[in-house]
Parts: sequence; C-alpha cells; structure tokens
Amino acid sequence: MYWLSSLFFYLALCVVALFVGAVAGVEAGLLLALVTISAVLVYHLINLARLNFWLQAPALDSAPRGFLLWREAFDRIYELVRNQQKRKNQLSATLDRFQRAGEAMPDGMVILDEHDRIEWCNPAAARHLGLNRQADISQQLTNLIRTPALREYLREQDFSQPLVLRMPRPQEQVLTIQLVPFDSNRKLLLSRDITQLDRVQTVHRDFVANVSHELRTPLTVVGGFIETMLDMPDIDPETREQHLKLMFEQTGRMQRLVDDLLALSRLESGQQLKEEEVNVPQMLQILQTEAEGLSQGRHRIVIDAVAPLRLIGNNDELHSAFGNLVSNAIRYTPQGGTIGLRWEMRADQPVFTVHDTGIGIAPEHIPRLTERFYRIDRGRSRATGGTGLGLAIVKHVLQRHQARLVVQSRLGEGSEFAVYFPAERALT
Ligand code: ADP
Repeated sequence: MYWLSSLFFYLALCVVALFVGAVAGVEAGLLLALVTISAVLVYHLINLARLNFWLQAPALDSAPRGFLLWREAFDRIYELVRNQQKRKNQLSATLDRFQRAGEAMPDGMVILDEHDRIEWCNPAAARHLGLNRQADISQQLTNLIRTPALREYLREQDFSQPLVLRMPRPQEQVLTIQLVPFDSNRKLLLSRDITQLDRVQTVHRDFVANVSHELRTPLTVVGGFIETMLDMPDIDPETREQHLKLMFEQTGRMQRLVDDLLALSRLESGQQLKEEEVNVPQMLQILQTEAEGLSQGRHRIVIDAVAPLRLIGNNDELHSAFGNLVSNAIRYTPQGGTIGLRWEMRADQPVFTVHDTGIGIAPEHIPRLTERFYRIDRGRSRATGGTGLGLAIVKHVLQRHQARLVVQSRLGEGSEFAVYFPAERALT
C-alpha cells in the first residue's frame, strides 16, 4: 500500500506547489517542487545503491531497511532472498545426503561424462578400480583402467549385460561392471565385488568335476568286467570269481564315496548340533577295537592316556571324526608301525590325539589336508580305500564343536593329529 501513500505524497506536493505558486509566485512554486523532487530522487538513488550493494552478497543479517515504498520493496526482496536461501540449503542438504548415501554404498559408483571422463566416484569404486578420488577426477576411465574388455564394453554401448572383469590390482579380485546411461550423455558405472561368489562357483565346479572323476574310474572298471562277462559266457569259474571280486571292490569304493558325500552334505546343511554327554574314554576303547579290525594285526594300537573326562558334543559326529583320524593313521603307517590314541587335558583344554609312526607329511601339504579331495599320493589313498573326503569331514565336525585341528608331522617319521576342544565343553 506504500505506492498509494507515495501517490498521495506527489499529489500533495503538486497542491502545495500550486498553492505556493499562487501565493508567492510561479518561481517559488516551481523551486519548491524542484527541491522536493530532487530530495526524493536522491533518497531513491541512495536506496537503489544500497540495494545494489547488498545484492552483490545478500546476507540476511545485513539486509537494508527503508521507508515507505522502499520499505515494502526491501521487505519483498528480503523475503525472496530468504526463501531462495532456504531452498538452497534444503537442496544442498538433500545433495549432501545423496552423496553420503553414495559414499556408504558397498557397491562402486562412478559418474562419467560424455567422453567417459570421471566426474565423481565413491570410495567403493576407488577401492575396486584402484582410483584416486581427487587426482583421477576428469581423467578418462580407459586411461586409468587399461583393460581391453572394458574399452570394448564402453565402445559397443550395449549395456544390457554386466561385464565380468578380473582385476589383478590393487588386489586380485573379480568385479561385475554395469553401465547405466542417464541425462542423455552421462553414464553411471556400477561395480560389484563378486570375488567370493566366483570362488564359491569355482569350488563348486571343481567339486562336481572331482566327484564325477572319482565315480568314473570304478564305473569304468565295473562296466568293463560286465562287458567281458557278457561277451564270454563260458568264462572259467576262477576268472569269473576274480572279476566279481574286483567288481565288488569297486562298488565298495563307490559306496564309501557316496557315504562320505552324504555325510559332508549333512554336516554342511547347517543343522544345529544335537548336543549330548559323550563318553570319550569309552569311545577310545571302541576306536581301538575298530582300529585293530582295520589293521588286521599289522600295527600296534595303544591308548597312551585317558583322562576321566566327558565332553559335551555329538556322539556320532565325534565318533566319525575320530574314526577318520584313526583310519588315516593306519592307512598311512606301514606294517609294524605304532598308532597311539590319547585323551587328556592340556592347560584347561580337552585334547584328543592320534599319533602314528607312518610315512609322515611334508610341511607344504599340511595347510591343505582338509580340502575336499586333497591327497598327497592319490594312488596310495585309493589303494587303501580312501575317498579324499575324510579330513574334510573331520574339519566340519570340529567346526561344529568349535574345536581346532593341529597337525604336526615329519616326513618318514610319523604324524600327530590333535583336536583341541574349548574348555567349556569339558565335563569332569
Ligand atoms: P584320504 O581318503 O585320501 O585318506 P583324507 O581327507 O582322509 O583323504 O586325507 C587327505 C590326505 O592327507 C591323504 O590323502 C593323505 O595324503 C594325507 N594324510 C592324512 N592322514 C595322514 C597320516 N596320518 N599320515 C600321512 N598322511 C596323511
């Protein structure tokens, strides 16, 4: 409404000037009007200059204040600037949030311009692709990652499928790279670390290949004998019996393999451990009898120590694990050797030990013994009825009991497999 008062002011000025003109002469009226208008003009110029000055860096606390029409104008401009600053603050807070969310993402994100130069990348992308988040901005991505597959992927512009990239540096890892075009000429590059998944897939592939390989040999042998017997119905009874015996051996081998595979799969199914009180001293007696059966008098089987100590765990699983260790000791100890079993407390931990005077294990093999199908001497393992899964089963059983296996061995002298259980599992 200040414009109305300004209008009145000018009307009043005209009336007063006319009045003065009528009373004191035209010059006096004109002079009054001129002086007043000049004063008003100077006031306007001053306020315009103040506004201009303030608009160069509009801070809300130093906003100019005025009178009449200028008061209204300053108030409106102040309001506009205040709203604009509020919107700007909101926008930058939103941007900040987005940036923080992008930085917290476990997947890598890189924004590329139309020439595939890096505009921004998050820490995960820097880690995956070995980028420097400051120094590499504005650099061409393909100059920094000189992988032909990535160059090709960017050139072909077909981003329907992700690219699988094997990065030798900064550390060996497998990534999937997916490009998403946006904003007409920009691209968002998403990287995901699938090293673990790739490893699992490789293990799975190797496992299937190993199982097939293990089954193929006995199947071929059995198939061969059946074919021979079909082709030669008049085969003499002695040869027939020999063939049947060999076939029986091979089916036994397949049976053991399938049994071990099922045992492994049960252990890996993640079912909760059924805990009970396990009478280990009694189990040692059973293991000794079983060992004597296996050895057929070729070894001396002794129990060196038995602590009167029970264990909280699963009887069947522990029997199978300990049994595997004992059977290995027999199978890898030549005739005349000694196999010893021990059940004792070491410090405050219950420990089960099997030691033998067998062929021993070279140190480089020890860390890999519990891998599925890892065998030092494939021929010897097979000849003694091994499946290559025994120690893998042991590892799983021990994991389920929070126990650890410690292997000590000297080539040509013998080995010791010790199982350390947590103190809380002991029952005195
Ligand atoms: P396998 O059925 O071949 O015995 P395991 O998983 O039980 O498979 O053992 C893996 C490998 O560890 C064996 O092939 C053998 O080379 C080695 N090994 C295990 N126990 C002993 C031992 N007591 N003495 C020497 N070598 C052993």
